[in-house]
Amino acid sequence: MTRDGFNRSFWQSKEDIKFSTDSDDLAFDTIIVGAGITGITLAKELQNRGVKCLLLDKKNPGFGTTGGTTAHINNFYDAAYFEIINNFGKEAAKELLASTRETIDYIKRNILRYGINCDFSSCDFFLYSAEEGQDDQLEQIYAAHQELGLATYEVDEIPFNIPFRKAIQIEGQSQFHPTNYIKGLLEAYIMEGGALVTHKVISDYSNENGKIMLQTSDQRIYTANNLVWATHIPPGKNRFDFLLAPYRSYVFTLKLRDDSDILAQAADLYDP
Ligand SMILES: Cc1cc2nc3c(=O)[nH]c(=O)nc-3n(C[C@H](O)[C@H](O)[C@H](O)COP(=O)(O)OP(=O)(O)OC[C@H]3O[C@@H](n4cnc5c(N)ncnc54)[C@H](O)[C@@H]3O)c2cc1C
Repeated sequence: MTRDGFNRSFWQSKEDIKFSTDSDDLAFDTIIVGAGITGITLAKELQNRGVKCLLLDKKNPGFGTTGGTTAHINNFYDAAYFEIINNFGKEAAKELLASTRETIDYIKRNILRYGINCDFSSCDFFLYSAEEGQDDQLEQIYAAHQELGLATYEVDEIPFNIPFRKAIQIEGQSQFHPTNYIKGLLEAYIMEGGALVTHKVISDYSNENGKIMLQTSDQRIYTANNLVWATHIPPGKNRFDFLLAPYRSYVFTLKLRDDSDILAQAADLYDP
């Protein structure tokens, strides 16, 4: 499951998710390309509604971004709510905030429903300014959270030994083991008859009058009425491809000497 030919993320450090159903069935209602959190969640939801799906990945499930995420499930975004209010209005920002709450509840429900062991836990987030120029941004973030009713407090201390100027504490965050989570969903999907094909590249596909024909590298041709690209960025399908640039994040994984008193997330402000 190496992501760049060499490195494995912490979430991918154990065994790869190796399931594959390798069914002879070639006709489906919906083919979903990409077995990350998006594709797997969609496959399970469609299956629950009686849709016959094929989930297909060129590598193994969790190979992509889902296996390399920070694993936070937050109720705010890299784009701050004050920017969202400025660009799209307060109602849109409220809707977005409500959707984050629904997402967290949805993940919790799945964990209970499918008995997924993925270290789900809840905590608060400490967002701080590290430089003078960031104080104003932090104040605008705080004000927008007050306006939208997102529980956020100005604090004088953070539970990390990091120098900071100003800080706010945002309630209602969660975190989990992402590949264990998708593995649990996938197990439920397969147990209920879902089809999964892995390590197959798409060599050709066509859409003739709404009938999808998709050929994989082993010369199989699958048909379906719908095709979903859950590949994070749809390959060669829109202008996003031209906007993509490679980034590398550096992360330390450390084992604490003692049990921590408090579970929390933190970050400074940054210019994306
Ligand atoms: C460093 C980093 C940290 C992040 N931290 C967070 C966070 O803390 N919280 C958060 O909510 N989000 C975070 N994100 C974003 C989040 O991880 C992604 O939005 C999410 O994982 C995307 O999932 P996905 O299923 O859409 O895509 P992916 O997980 O990338 O899955 C796509 C799958 O498609 C397959 N695929 C691709 N192309 C093809 C093809 N042509 N044929 C067949 N298969 C193909 C890949 O093998 C892969 O398995 C982070 C992202 C990064 C990069």
